[in-house]
Amino acid sequence: MQLAAQLASFLVPGRALFFLIHLIGIACFSYIVAQRLVPLMRGERDFRFDQPWVRLGRVLKYWLGQWKQPRYRAAGTLHIFIFAGFLVLAIRAFSVLIVGVSPNFVPPGLSGRAGDVYGVITDYAATIVFLCMLIAVIRRLVFKPARYAVPAKYGKGHTADAIFLLSLIALLMLADSFFTAAKAAAQVRQGQPVEVLAALSLPWMIRNALVSTSLPTLGRMYFGAYFVHELTFYFLLCYRPFGIQFHVETSLFNIYFAKLDREILKPVRWGISDTQLDQVKSFGIKTFEDFTWKHMLDFYSCADCGRCSDQCPANAVGRPLSPRFITIKARDYSFAHYPVFGREKKGTALIGSIYSQDEIWSCTTCGACEQECPLLVEYIDKIVDLRRGMIDEGNVPQSLQKPLKALESRGNPYGKMEKKKADWASATEFQQTCRVKTLDHPNGAETLYFVDSITSFDDRMQSIGRATAKILSHVGENFGILGAAERDSGHEVRRFGEETLFMALRDHNVEAIKTSGVRRIVTADPHAYNALKHDYKDVPPVEHISQVIAREVESGKISFHPLENKNDVYTYHDPCYLGRHNQIYDEPRDVLDAIPGLKRVEMSRCRDRSFCCGGGGLMLFYEPKEEQRMGVKRVRMAAEAGASVIVTTCPFCMVNIEDAIKVAGMEGKMTVIDLTELVDRQVIRECPNAIEERAGEIKECVMASSHILK
Ligand code: SF4
Ligand code: SF4
Repeated sequence: MQLAAQLASFLVPGRALFFLIHLIGIACFSYIVAQRLVPLMRGERDFRFDQPWVRLGRVLKYWLGQWKQPRYRAAGTLHIFIFAGFLVLAIRAFSVLIVGVSPNFVPPGLSGRAGDVYGVITDYAATIVFLCMLIAVIRRLVFKPARYAVPAKYGKGHTADAIFLLSLIALLMLADSFFTAAKAAAQVRQGQPVEVLAALSLPWMIRNALVSTSLPTLGRMYFGAYFVHELTFYFLLCYRPFGIQFHVETSLFNIYFAKLDREILKPVRWGISDTQLDQVKSFGIKTFEDFTWKHMLDFYSCADCGRCSDQCPANAVGRPLSPRFITIKARDYSFAHYPVFGREKKGTALIGSIYSQDEIWSCTTCGACEQECPLLVEYIDKIVDLRRGMIDEGNVPQSLQKPLKALESRGNPYGKMEKKKADWASATEFQQTCRVKTLDHPNGAETLYFVDSITSFDDRMQSIGRATAKILSHVGENFGILGAAERDSGHEVRRFGEETLFMALRDHNVEAIKTSGVRRIVTADPHAYNALKHDYKDVPPVEHISQVIAREVESGKISFHPLENKNDVYTYHDPCYLGRHNQIYDEPRDVLDAIPGLKRVEMSRCRDRSFCCGGGGLMLFYEPKEEQRMGVKRVRMAAEAGASVIVTTCPFCMVNIEDAIKVAGMEGKMTVIDLTELVDRQVIRECPNAIEERAGEIKECVMASSHILK
C-alpha cells in the first residue's frame, strides 16, 4: 500500500495538468461531434426507429460479432483482434484517465483477484493490438492490397493518413504498457508484492527491461507514460472525426439504424405517400442536403476498407464508378462544406461537381457492395435517389429516351403493340404441346404466370416463356397470363429513377392482377419477381419458377432423363435479383443436381458474391463507358471454373451472357441455357402425346389440380 501511495504520488504534481487535459479533450471532442451532426440535422427525413429489438440483434451480430469481417480473411481477422482488443481495453482506458486526477482510483469490481485477472487480459489485449498495428502498417507499406489504392482521378492516396493513425494507436498501447510496467518494476525494486503481469506481454517485457532502473527514474517514466497516454488518447479522440477513423465512434449507430429490408427501395420522400407525391417539388438528390441523415451517417461510418469497390462489377470492368468513392467524395464534401472550424460553405449541385452522370448511371443495382460492407453502408438507395434527381432535371441518357417513351405509351420498352404481348404463346409448334390461356375474366385460373416485357417480346427469350408454360402445364398448374393487360413490371424503370412512370405501370398491373382473381403468381424473371414481391403491394404471393421446379422435383412430379452429353460441365450463375436480393441460391442448384449425369462446378464468385452480368437497371438500353463487358468477365470466370455450360434463371442474364460468349470468341466452347429450358429438355413426360390428343377436346392445356395447389 505504501508503494501504491508512493507511485500514486508520482502523478500528483500533474493532477491539475491532467485535469486540464481531460477538460480540453472532452470539450474539443464534444464540439467536433456537435459540428459533425450539423449536416445530419439538415438532411432529409429517414425512418429508422422501428423494431428496436431487431436492430439490437443486428448490432450484436454485425458490430459486436463482426459478422462480415471474415469475408476477407486476413484483414478481417486482423480487424476482429483489434476490435476485441479495443473492447477489452475500453474500461482500462477510462480508469487510467481517472487515475490522473484520482491516483488511487480502482474501477468498481476490479480490485483484488478480479483486478489481477482483468490486468492480465488487458496486458495481452494491449500487446495484441500493438502487434496488429505493426502488421497493418506492414500490409499497407509492403503488401499494398490493391483495394486500398486510390486511383488518381479520386485524389491523393490515403496510406499516409492510415499509417499515421495506426502509429498513434500503437503509441497508445505502448504508453499504456509503459505505465503498467513502470509501476510493476518499482514494486520489484522495492521488494514489494509484485503486480501480476501477463507472461510475454508488452508490459511484462518492458517491466523485465526496467527492473534495474532507479526508483526516481521509474517515477518519471510512470508520469511520462501517463502524460503520453493522455495526450495520445485525446488527440486520437478529437482527430478521428476528421477522417476514416470516425467509424470507431459511428459504426455502432450506423449498424443500429441500418436498413432492415434491403430489398425495398427507399420511397421518394419518407413520410410522403404515393398520392401526395404531386406535392413534392423536387425529386431525388440534387444537393448534399437531399441525402437523408442516415445516408450522411453512412458517409461518416465508412472505414475505407475498399471491399465494396473490390466486389463492384462496374468498377471491375472499368466503368467510372467505384462505390467506395461515392462515399469518400460525399464525406469530403461534407467536411469541406460543414467545417468544424469556420463558416459553412454554400452548397453546389452534386452532379457535375463531385459525381458525374456516367458514374451514377454505371450502377447495375446488383447489391454486391452492400452485401460486402462490414458496416452496412447503403448504396442502391443513394444511387437511385441521385438518378431521380437527374431525371427530375431532364438529364436522361439519349439511348434511354426512346425505351422510356415506349414504356409510357405502350407499357414496354420495345414499343410493341399491347396485343402482341402474348404472341410468344401462339407459335404453332408450341401450341401443339401447350396452350396458354389469357386471363381476361375473373377466376380464370389459380395462378398467374407474369411474363414481363423481355420474355414476351425478345425472340430468343420467348423460349423461356414457352419452357415455363410447359413446365407449369406438366406439373398440373391451373395457370394463365394477362396477355395484353400485362405491362412491364417497372422494376428497371424504378431503379432507373423514373418513379412516376413506375407507379403508373405498377398500378395498371395491380389492377389487372386483382381483376384476374388469381391466388398466386409465378414468374421466370427475377426482376419481375423482385418488383412483384417488394415494389408492389396487395398482390398475391409470388414465386420464381425455380422454386416451383425445386418443389416439384422434391414431390416427384418432375423427374429427369439423364444428360446425353456426359462431357459437358455445368455451372450456375446466380442472377443478382434472385440471389443477393432475394436469397434464392439453393433451389436452382437442387434442380441441377437432380438431373442424372449432370456435372456441376461453382465459379469462384458465386451465391452472394455472384458477379453481375451487366443487365440490371435498364442496362440493355444503355452502355456506359467500360473497358470490357461484365458478361465477358463472367463468361471467363465460368471457363476458369472448368464449365462448358452456364445455367441461369433470368432472361436479362441470358441476353448478356449469350452476347458475351460471342464477344469473348468462345462460341463452341461455352453455351448458356436458362434453367426452364434445361428442365423442359430433360423432364420425363409420362404421356408425351397426352396433351396433343386432348388438344381438340379442351381449349387450354391446364390440368385440374386443386389438390396440388392445396
Ligand atoms: S450496386 Fe453493384 S454496380 Fe452498383 S455500386 Fe454496388 S456493386 Fe457496384
Ligand atoms: S462502404 Fe463499407 S465496404 Fe465500402 S469502403 Fe466503406 S466500409 Fe468498406
